[in-house]
Amino acid sequence: MKLTLLGTGCPKVNYKRFGPANLISTLKTKILIDCGSGVTQNLNQASISSANIDALLLTHLHSDHVVDLYQLIISSWHLCRNKPWKIYGPKGTKKFVQSIMKVWQKERELRIQYEQRFSTKAFNIKVKEFKKYGQVKIKDLIFEYFEVDHKPVKYAYGFNFHHKRKKITISGDTRPCNNLMKHAQKADVLLHEVFIEGELKPMKKILSKKTLNNVKSYHTSSEDVGKIAKICKVNKLVLTHFVPPQFNNQKLINIIKKDFGKKPIIGKDLLTIIV
Ligand SMILES: [Zn+2]
Ligand SMILES: [Zn+2]
Repeated sequence: MKLTLLGTGCPKVNYKRFGPANLISTLKTKILIDCGSGVTQNLNQASISSANIDALLLTHLHSDHVVDLYQLIISSWHLCRNKPWKIYGPKGTKKFVQSIMKVWQKERELRIQYEQRFSTKAFNIKVKEFKKYGQVKIKDLIFEYFEVDHKPVKYAYGFNFHHKRKKITISGDTRPCNNLMKHAQKADVLLHEVFIEGELKPMKKILSKKTLNNVKSYHTSSEDVGKIAKICKVNKLVLTHFVPPQFNNQKLINIIKKDFGKKPIIGKDLLTIIV
């Protein structure tokens, strides 16, 4: 099983770290998790055609994780996608997808009619909304979804991927959360979000102390993520969704190594990890 980091950034723009997106793949199956800004460019860079993606999973509906959904669908049409899209996401995903498709409906119909491409199946979208917990099998991959804590976002999920007795856990956006720690136990890879302590300072009229504290409080701090990985006894900790996207690498590694007991992998766009 292979994990490809397609976007390791956050809402703050950074040209080296695109918006949140990851791909889990085997020889038979490709599952995309989130579709943040730049996802299609990095799929292209990684030589993965969106025409071949078996399913899209959404961790939650924060804009940084879903903002390129329409671009993904259009780009898959251009790449001759010949099957419907399967999208799994939290409550509200159906309405969200319908709304996006409606905004572009007239423009799309005009293009379809004029361009006369081979298939319009890319626009046939099947959405399934998550319950509290569940397991889904897609070809040779099984994914589990479970709730994480990203309140005030009401519905936010983490995932486990299982293939040939290997397990990859993806935290999604979450503050430290018992349910995540329960599900991430003994993962071969834990891909976890991180808010890097001490990198952001309040700035007059740009970033208030209140805003900074609120952002920090629904993410997982660099002071906690190593401890979480240790409690979960994971083999590898890979970090992503860096808030902020630019930071002191070595300092972050040192803090986490102290808690985790091993060096974490600082994720970067297009990094692949095979388990
Ligand atoms: Zn979020
Ligand atoms: Zn996010």
